[in-house]
Amino acid sequence: MGAVRYDVPEPDAFTRPYWEAAAQGRLLIRRCGRCGRAHHYPREFCPHCWSEDVAWEETSGRATLYTWSTVHRNDLPPFGDRTPYTAAVVDLAEGPRMMTEVVECPEGELTAAMPLRVTFRDGSPVFRPDP
Ligand SMILES: [Zn+2]
Repeated sequence: MGAVRYDVPEPDAFTRPYWEAAAQGRLLIRRCGRCGRAHHYPREFCPHCWSEDVAWEETSGRATLYTWSTVHRNDLPPFGDRTPYTAAVVDLAEGPRMMTEVVECPEGELTAAMPLRVTFRDGSPVFRPDP
């Protein structure tokens, strides 16, 4: 058994479809069949109207940058080896706001509302500039 890592998913029965799709390079969200709104992170109930009529939906993978912070120190492995990195909140094209990381972009080139596209690192979604 290797070193403990804090960046890899621990799927359960409910989130397994999400992580299996991510392993195939697809980002899923949940959309409510009653009010029509999408949400993320995945929940079994719609957080807007509490309906249980919620289903998985594949996203376009497009997003815009809402806010970000450069992380210079993180003691949880393997993040310490990655510093500095860009922790970010992005607005998915489908509506939900998502916590993630922006990669392949120098800190000085980050701008609010810049277009991003999902990419996957070790099966987890991160975002890079979408020129
Ligand atoms: Zn709803």
